[in-house]
Amino acid sequence: KGQLSADETQAIIDMDRDHHLHPYQIFDVFPEEGALPIAKGVGSFIWDTEGNKYLDAVGGLWCNNIGLGRDEMADVIAEQVRELSYASPFVDMTNVPAAKLAKKLADLAPGHLNHVFFTCGGSTAVDSAYRTVQMYNNCRGKKDKKHFISRKDAYHGTTYAAMSLGGKAGDHPDFFDFKSDDIHHLSSPNYYRYGKGLSEQEFADKLVAEFEAKVEELGGADKVAAFIAEPIMGAGGVVLPPANYLKRIWEICKANDILYISDEVVTGFGRLGQWFASESVFGIVPDIITCAKGLSSGYLPIGAMIFSDAIFEGISQADQGYYYAHGYTYSGHPVSCAAALKNIEILENEKILEHVRDVGPYFMEQLNTLRDLDMVGDVRGSHLMVCVELVKNKETKENFPEELDIGKQVSNEADAMGLIVRPIVNLNVMSPPLVLTKEEADFIVSTLRK
Ligand code: PLP
Repeated sequence: KGQLSADETQAIIDMDRDHHLHPYQIFDVFPEEGALPIAKGVGSFIWDTEGNKYLDAVGGLWCNNIGLGRDEMADVIAEQVRELSYASPFVDMTNVPAAKLAKKLADLAPGHLNHVFFTCGGSTAVDSAYRTVQMYNNCRGKKDKKHFISRKDAYHGTTYAAMSLGGKAGDHPDFFDFKSDDIHHLSSPNYYRYGKGLSEQEFADKLVAEFEAKVEELGGADKVAAFIAEPIMGAGGVVLPPANYLKRIWEICKANDILYISDEVVTGFGRLGQWFASESVFGIVPDIITCAKGLSSGYLPIGAMIFSDAIFEGISQADQGYYYAHGYTYSGHPVSCAAALKNIEILENEKILEHVRDVGPYFMEQLNTLRDLDMVGDVRGSHLMVCVELVKNKETKENFPEELDIGKQVSNEADAMGLIVRPIVNLNVMSPPLVLTKEEADFIVSTLRK
């Protein structure tokens, strides 16, 4: 039974549409439809206000790792609010959960990443990385080392620097663009779309050569501050990088004193069956990892920038009078940190990463059976970060006309059958809760087939 009647639900939809501007709102579609009002969530399932049940195969927004509505999370959050609901993180104060979480993240992150700066989410973690790299290079007297290299189709968030680092064409329309002369975008590593006529190895060679040429063009490594990449591109189309391409770029970065920022906002905390994908999956030990989402499984907002001993030493040993002029009121928020600590404890105690290593390959295998459908051009991803790409013509990879909004049509049909999948133009993207069962995986695949 739902919380609200049909009339009450309509009233909520109306007030939401009239007063609530949503992230990434599509103005010409939204006013008629309104948004689906969600009222309850347990595990992998959500219910709308009228009581209709859905399996949320998007996991909120790639963030619901341990499942919704857990009592132990509610308890820890309530306890922390009663104990200490807020304390300033600035300079001379800390709080117990923040200190414990910083230590825990330093333990979980690859080797020399021992320092943590807390943020409000993923975008602010990326912004913090951008600023910290600049400070680091300035502190060590390398003021010209200021160019950042990113990729087309990358998504790093929506604050100023994060959006500028992002490379999704749709996020940079002419009338609303953020540009920085210091940020450069190389080709997307999407082999399905851009690897035509090349083996995967040749495609990787081309991307690596492009990186080297860009460094040269910018005046050499002395002018290049950092490379930033998601281990698997998420919002840009769940793009698995061609074998060894990221590792080869990291090796070039390492050899040339170019910092490597690994944006693990989606891939962190178990989505690929590992705490972080950089080292465990791709053999990279970056200088900075940005994370958010699965850090608290979305129970409360929090993000983190985890960075190396070398960067910490660089910025902390600068000339006298310098201070780290960067920070948020909610950096190290005690309640968010307590929630993140409990979330990590649940991931550990319930062996959820091990579960992902079991259910993930099964889900991929089942999803791949959809390839026999005429409209399925590609099925790609890894573990619980996947997408299905829809095409009009499988041979030529011709897309459906944009106005058909094919991904949205499929997701609307799926909604009606109790399944939430995320449409991104011609894709349906999925990042289900990590507690997904094999039966739930089967439901996702059979519903998509219908
Ligand atoms: N980085 C990546 C890889 C993301 O996928 C996202 C969000 O989806 C962000 C950064 C931005 O995170 P937030 O929305 O928490 O600011």
